[in-house]
Amino acid sequence: MLTTRKKFLAGIGAAAFGSLFELRSSFAQSSPAQRWKGAATSKIKRWDVITIGNLSRNRYWGEGDARGVRPAICTCTVIAGDSFHLLVDPSLADGEQMAKELDRRTGLKPSDISAVFVTHEHGDHWAGLPNFPEAKWFAGPIVTKILNKTGKFKKPIEPTPDRLFDTVEVMPTPGHTAGHTSLRFDCDGKSIIAAGDAVATHDFFRDRRGYFNAVDFALSAKTMDRMAKAADIIVPGHDNYFLVA
Ligand SMILES: [Zn+2]
Repeated sequence: MLTTRKKFLAGIGAAAFGSLFELRSSFAQSSPAQRWKGAATSKIKRWDVITIGNLSRNRYWGEGDARGVRPAICTCTVIAGDSFHLLVDPSLADGEQMAKELDRRTGLKPSDISAVFVTHEHGDHWAGLPNFPEAKWFAGPIVTKILNKTGKFKKPIEPTPDRLFDTVEVMPTPGHTAGHTSLRFDCDGKSIIAAGDAVATHDFFRDRRGYFNAVDFALSAKTMDRMAKAADIIVPGHDNYFLVA
């Protein structure tokens, strides 16, 4: 009886040691130094979501793809360094509303925005572009051509260099449209991608599913896999930002 009890207690000790060891090693794996993909130092001091987007129809809410059931707004983000404010996907056509949301989220005025970047040619992602007449306007090369051809803008959109403000990486992310382009940057040791519609919402990202109007669903899925490897945080085109699992 005594030996059995001893063995039993020894067993408990080993099990406890084992689970403690597992706990310690899983803690080590999730320590920030190992987990995050971003550079430790960055010229990006902060980033803020201005409008949290929504879709016109969302299959994850039980809505069909055939028709929109509400107006879509895209997610709009400001990336800020010491000497610049870069706004991604100006979402609101109404100038007063755009200025109000920008002020509410950052305290900035439209004239404080140094550059605006448009991820792709769909109207909900550039609706607010004319509200930033003093900023430089950028998009990927294909998107630039498409938008400038429309004749809708008072000044030309310029094809973006490989990096904006020497620090924000321009990342081709085709699939939703052929010329779709996203931005990747580091902040607080984390790697962040402002994805535009390369990622519609968190649900679409989990399933690596393109939105119903994507031009190439297989390419969309590949692009999302590539983004998952590069990012800690994704700012999707029509949802709040989320951590890449
Ligand atoms: Zn789109």
